[in-house]
Order: sequence, then structure tokens, then C-alpha cells
Amino acid sequence: MLELTRDEKEYLFGKIRDVHDFPKPGIVFKDITTLLNDREAYGFLMNHLAQRYRDWDFEFVTAIESRGFIFGAALAAMLNRAFVPIRKPKKLPYTTVSEKYSLEYGVDEIEIHIDAFSTAKQNPPKVLLIDDLIATGGTAKAAVSLLQKINVECVEACFLVNLKFLKGDEEIVKTTPVYSVLEVF
Ligand code: AMP
Repeated sequence: MLELTRDEKEYLFGKIRDVHDFPKPGIVFKDITTLLNDREAYGFLMNHLAQRYRDWDFEFVTAIESRGFIFGAALAAMLNRAFVPIRKPKKLPYTTVSEKYSLEYGVDEIEIHIDAFSTAKQNPPKVLLIDDLIATGGTAKAAVSLLQKINVECVEACFLVNLKFLKGDEEIVKTTPVYSVLEVF
């Protein structure tokens, strides 16, 4: 299975900016806008993902609002697959299916259109899930549950960055393979 070398990972890591104390004290925010701003780095990353997933058996790429869209939509187009957005509440105009999940304080929710995979030729539809970063894993776990709820098979959950020390992937790997381009230990 295609993964990056240590040098390639270091190259991409070097393009991501750490912003300390954002959005609140104690958080080191991984700012991917600096990577997107660098056409070589962004191209390198997208080509890597395209190479990894080109021959995989899935019809859809689905991604989580909003930074997941940057990678998911581009990848879907590169691989000639369809794209399905998973969005925050009250953004999708048609009938939705939703999944609630816990935050540090309170709850949040994600939604998907009920007919998002109705063009699928396979049953169950197969999808690749992608997001920019996995921290506590709450968002990604909710996305995986949402897909399960509508009988969609997630062939892999892919993240650009995995904050491994938060162990956010531990629950997800019980049901779904996880690939992280970069890992922070
Ligand atoms: P979580 O549900 O805790 O895994 O949080 C994942 C979502 O929050 C991702 O969609 C990220 O975009 C965002 N996020 C959480 N922590 C960070 C961080 N340290 N740097 C950048 N984005 C983050």
C-alpha cells in the first residue's frame, strides 16, 4: 500500500504552519493554508493520494466540512469519482440524515443528503472518507457512523494529519481502515 517516505513526510510537514493558542490557549493549530499556498506541495500531496487510491474499488469520495472538501473534491475529480459533502447542520437543502457527536463542551452534528449515493452502481455503495485532520476523532467517528446508518461501506478513512497522541483513531479502526499521510506523536 502506497505511503510516503520519511523525507517526503518531512517535506509536507514543513509546509504546515503551527499556530499556537488557536482557537484557544494550549491548542497547537495545524494550519494547512500554507501547504495549499505552495503549488508544488499541494500538487505533491494530491498526486500521492491519487496514486494511492486510483485502483481502489469505490465510486464516491466523501469529505467533512469544511477543510475536508479541499482535498476530497480535488481527489474525486482527479480519480473520476463522484463527490459527496458531509456538512454542518442546516446547510444542505434537501432531506438529510444526521449524526450527533460530543464536543468538549456540548454536542455538534453532521448531515448528509438522504439520496447522496443514489447514483451508485454497487450495493452497498463504496466510499472513501477524507478529512484534513483527526484530533479526538469525534467528527470522523460521527461521519463513519453516519455512513453506516445509510448502509454505505467506507473503504478507508483518510486524513492528512493524525494527532496520534489524542488516540482519535482507536475507535474508528475497529470498523474502518485508517490512513494518515502524516502522524504527530
Ligand atoms: P476531532 O473531532 O477532535 O477529531 O476534530 C477534528 C476536526 O477539527 C477536523 O476537521 C480539524 O479540521 C479540526 N481540528 C481539530 N484540532 C485541530 C488542530 N490542532 N489543528 C487543526 N485543525 C484541528
